[in-house]
Amino acid sequence: MQVDYKIRYLKKLFPLRISRGVRDGQHNLFVSVRDGGHTGWGETSPGASEGAETAEEAQSQLEAFLKDGTNLQSVFETYDAALEAKVAPCALAALDMALWDLLAKKADMPLYRLLGFPKPSKPTSITLGIMSPEEARGRLPLILENMHIKTLKVKLGSNDGIEADKALYEEVLAYHKKYPISIRVDANGGWNLEEAHHMMKWLAERHCEYVEQPLKEGLENELPFLHKNRPLPIFVDESCRFATDIPKWAHSVDGVNMKLMKCGGITGALRIIATANAFGLKTMIGCMGETSISIAAGAAVSGMLDHIDLDSHLNLNPDPCIGAPLVNGITMPQEVPGHGGGFKK
Ligand SMILES: [Mg+2]
Repeated sequence: MQVDYKIRYLKKLFPLRISRGVRDGQHNLFVSVRDGGHTGWGETSPGASEGAETAEEAQSQLEAFLKDGTNLQSVFETYDAALEAKVAPCALAALDMALWDLLAKKADMPLYRLLGFPKPSKPTSITLGIMSPEEARGRLPLILENMHIKTLKVKLGSNDGIEADKALYEEVLAYHKKYPISIRVDANGGWNLEEAHHMMKWLAERHCEYVEQPLKEGLENELPFLHKNRPLPIFVDESCRFATDIPKWAHSVDGVNMKLMKCGGITGALRIIATANAFGLKTMIGCMGETSISIAAGAAVSGMLDHIDLDSHLNLNPDPCIGAPLVNGITMPQEVPGHGGGFKK
């Protein structure tokens, strides 16, 4: 099996601001695995909190892991061996999704069918980053009028405090009157316990579906206080990286947001789905700054999930890859062998 790497700079159409900062572009790592005339594709969107800060770091971790050739066994064995070897989850995600892509191509089946999963039927949310109400007034029509979008994810947890959060959300509500969209909120850990209590009550009265990561990662011991008599469902994102995190917070949250970059790819996502289902939790899939390759891999498992946030490829200028088109608002896996993602010809 031959493994190759390339690094590409990806520029965002609109810079994305969340509670921890702003990003207008980044270098991602692309991994291909070639065997028996087939090529599987994977991608790393690096990040310090996902274990590799740069694409180069992710590549060198994978090269070290694969250097003597003995670590490429079955996909599940490779996944476990890589985590054991401390390969960063975002680096592992590229290798893992490439191996699943290869497996499905060899089987001549779309990956979602190989997994025995249904085709997704739920629309993806489109993310509105933290911005001023004036900026939102310019951005919202671009999102809502041009893309047939049915769900909006609003980033709150502004460094300017909850009054700034409310001002942005009020702007979204003005559009809610005109467009029949559902709204969910992601605070990215930007609130303290008191603010989270207050905001969840305020949002519950204003058409919000659920709140993601209200409290900072590391403050999970405060979740039971927020969960008791909660006016809205609580999902954790940063607080839940692997399936093994779920039992710790299962009784103080309503759902978990998995990301391929956090859990190390499709294999990690399968374990999260099984574990969340066992605890009766709702499931969601999100993304980092990923192209159509990684988004297509996420779309392959999304038919089993309750909420979908697979939209980062739509905010690239340009997306150098294809494989995860928006069909009636749904990020749709393609009827081709593999996960369907690859570079544009
Ligand atoms: Mg999130």
